[in-house]
Amino acid sequence: MKKAAVNIARLMLAVTLILSGFVKAVDPLGTQYKIQDYLTAMGLGNFVPDFLTLSASVLLSGTEFMLGICLLFAIRRRLVSKVVLAIMVMMTLLTLWLAWTEPIHDCGCFGDALVLTNWQTFWKNVILLALAVIVWRWPLEMPRLISESNQWIVFNYSGVFILLFVALRSLYTLPQFDFRPYHIGADLREGWQKMMDGEDTPYTDFFIETVDEGEDITEQVLNSEGYTFLLIAPHLEQADDSQLDELNRIYDYSSEQGYPFYCLTASSEKAITRWQDMTGAEYPFCHTDDITLKTVIRSNPGLMLLKDGKVIRKWSHNALPEEEELTERLEDSGLGKMPSDSIPTKILWLLTWFVLPLVLLTIADRLWAWSKWLRKKNKKYNPLNKEKRIMRKKIVAGNWKMNMNLQDGIALAKELNETLKADKPNCGVVICTPFIHLASIAQFLDQDIIGLGAENCADKEKGAFTGEVSAEMVKSTGAQYVILGHSERREYYKETPEILKEKVLLAQKNDLKVIFCIGESLEEREAGKQNEVVKAELEGSVFNLSEEDFRKIVIAYEPIWAIGTGKTATAEQAEEIHAYIRSIIAEKYGQAVADDTTILYGGSCKASNAPELFAKPDIDGGLIGGASLKAADFKGIIDAWKK
Ligand code: PEP
Repeated sequence: MKKAAVNIARLMLAVTLILSGFVKAVDPLGTQYKIQDYLTAMGLGNFVPDFLTLSASVLLSGTEFMLGICLLFAIRRRLVSKVVLAIMVMMTLLTLWLAWTEPIHDCGCFGDALVLTNWQTFWKNVILLALAVIVWRWPLEMPRLISESNQWIVFNYSGVFILLFVALRSLYTLPQFDFRPYHIGADLREGWQKMMDGEDTPYTDFFIETVDEGEDITEQVLNSEGYTFLLIAPHLEQADDSQLDELNRIYDYSSEQGYPFYCLTASSEKAITRWQDMTGAEYPFCHTDDITLKTVIRSNPGLMLLKDGKVIRKWSHNALPEEEELTERLEDSGLGKMPSDSIPTKILWLLTWFVLPLVLLTIADRLWAWSKWLRKKNKKYNPLNKEKRIMRKKIVAGNWKMNMNLQDGIALAKELNETLKADKPNCGVVICTPFIHLASIAQFLDQDIIGLGAENCADKEKGAFTGEVSAEMVKSTGAQYVILGHSERREYYKETPEILKEKVLLAQKNDLKVIFCIGESLEEREAGKQNEVVKAELEGSVFNLSEEDFRKIVIAYEPIWAIGTGKTATAEQAEEIHAYIRSIIAEKYGQAVADDTTILYGGSCKASNAPELFAKPDIDGGLIGGASLKAADFKGIIDAWKK
């Protein structure tokens, strides 16, 4: 149920982020204009230069798209879910402000593809925020679509795609998908006529006025039969002037062929005269509303070709028609027809070059993971196979006991975190700390490298149990593990097998992984009763679990006579009893479960004896007390797995 909820939330968020990131990236200038609208509404319009707003536009759309991809593929689940939540909190507050004060009419969250009112946007964000909370609460419930080792391919491929092939390409040429009312195929004549008849159309602000007399010639231009070139330059002062000769050449061509050519701008007469002096432009200039011009074409200047009042071609100044293309009349050339790359062709391009490679990669990755799993499974059931424990998780866990005040504990955890980030361990690493450290350490610990755990939890769910800390409380700090059944708790706090049974159940109910300690005293060892003791301890507290739940338990064999005494069980002694423990697990749950159970050794384990202990086939790591209190000592034991 929880898993289903998290994954539905993940999918809905991922699809929304991918779509909204994509439609923004496809039109970086449109997103830039929207950012400028926001800044103006906040009174900052004149303070932020254009290159910054344009960079913010590309960055914003790229980030949104990439977060969606990360959620979809479950890449860096914990980090991504936190970032998504932070962004959703910010966006919900921002859109509440927008809906309340209405400084701009449309928030632009889906570019021009889908225009929502400010209140619609706010409620949409409330829903997305709720989904983000679900994903943030249980990020590890999202199964990965692709193995961790291949995630970089998806991440880099998607990043290059959205930045280079979508955003920068759209910026250099024109948006590959045009959601505005002036897209190729739009019938401006018909739209304008409807507007004149009083109908509601998006062309209300479209007009063309001569510069000298201020005469409205919109009707004349749109009703002109055949071809008309419109050079669109919202602001000549900021227009790109690298293609001036090309523009003059196109104007010469249109005059020779008798096609009308106008330059539509919102610039002042002074700016027009400066442009004419600088470029030698002979074409007529007309005035049009600047926002309309920015909507017509995302290029300054850009060129548009109308045929019978219908938009049939649009060019950015970076991709104007070549000289060879403008030799014959438009009626006889391909240029005079609408381009063949229709919307379905573009969607097909997207599917072929973006979606398909990712789907193929995912299938290949899953097949590879499956075949690896099969190979391991086959190995595992071969009784002669000495590499059984490859399937088991190797762990080195620290038990700080009642040592370290908060400041010292944080310093130790930070040192360990940095050390292991720089030199990745070859095994799972866990630190189990006093309760008071947990929440602070969970804030910075990279739990992909070091798991965090408590040393105990209560045997009651909640209520009037002064001084106790429940499993739910432990979990809420961000910890994932808990040590239960440690001999010090059994001996000094009289924790019986029944009490421990309750604790195990509560810990598992709260999704904590239990490191369950067993082990005999010196007298018991001397009386040769060690096997009997560990068996009784398992039967008393964990053999009641279902197979599924037992699989989540890590066993720690700790002979009491070796704990904190400096006396270690020899590697042979330890191996003998580990093998016995595994055999009774096999009796209870079957060989497969026994082969998969991690059994740690604990008791005066140090960097000097760890390699010999860990080399034994049934010893899967250690539970470390004293030697876990110094980063260097603990690291020495962790490194035993590299030898
Ligand atoms: C322990 O208490 O779990 C333990 C193994 O302690 P030490 O390593 O200090 O013997």
